[in-house]
Amino acid sequence: MREAGRITGEALALAGEAVKPGITTKMLDDLIRHHIERSGAKPSFLGYGGFPASACISVNEQVIHGIPSRKVILQEGDIVKIDVGAFYKGYHGDSARTFAVGNISEEAARLIDITEQCFWAGFREVRPDARVGDIGHAVETLAKSAGYGVVRKYVGHGVGQNLHESPDVPNYGTQGRGVRLCQGMTIAIEPMICVGSGEVNELSDGWTVVTADKTLSAHYEHTVALTENGVEALTKID
Ligand code: MG
Ligand code: MG
Repeated sequence: MREAGRITGEALALAGEAVKPGITTKMLDDLIRHHIERSGAKPSFLGYGGFPASACISVNEQVIHGIPSRKVILQEGDIVKIDVGAFYKGYHGDSARTFAVGNISEEAARLIDITEQCFWAGFREVRPDARVGDIGHAVETLAKSAGYGVVRKYVGHGVGQNLHESPDVPNYGTQGRGVRLCQGMTIAIEPMICVGSGEVNELSDGWTVVTADKTLSAHYEHTVALTENGVEALTKID
């Protein structure tokens, strides 16, 4: 899991460094696929449920599951969410971040920052005997205090030999409720936070999820392991 996580984190960082006005989301996807394959791994998302690319790349009001395309050219001021998975020696890593394309608005920068903070608020709740609801409660509390909406229709998840395993890890919840965490668990914590309500729709391509009110959305995800030595973000490489 640690090795799969490192490859995932490297691929995501590589794509993040390449983000600039004028690049297509297909070019970012190619960078990700090449890094994963030359590392001896496979892109987890390619062919998953029929998904046609190695990464999900979603721009502005697109929340998740955007399909990389030669026709999508990033513009100055956009924010782009890149979600990557790598499958290595039988295990998956899963990680996402939101990147600025050139100079972005103050509001967009704040949204990205708060979304990352929401992840770490959830991460800090991970310990033996904590509950999944503790994570969601921490994420939701911070997002709401910043005036933002939380996407409820899509959630974090267990991750390991399968990309998506139990338990669900929602970005909302009640303290002390839900599945009990224990040593050996590996979960993807992935806040999806919006300037607006958090209500979402799926586009007619059958994949891309957008905010119903067309407001900006940000996403931040790591694969997190609860080990006997503490809690680790396996896809964090710096
Ligand atoms: Mg992901
Ligand atoms: Mg995930």
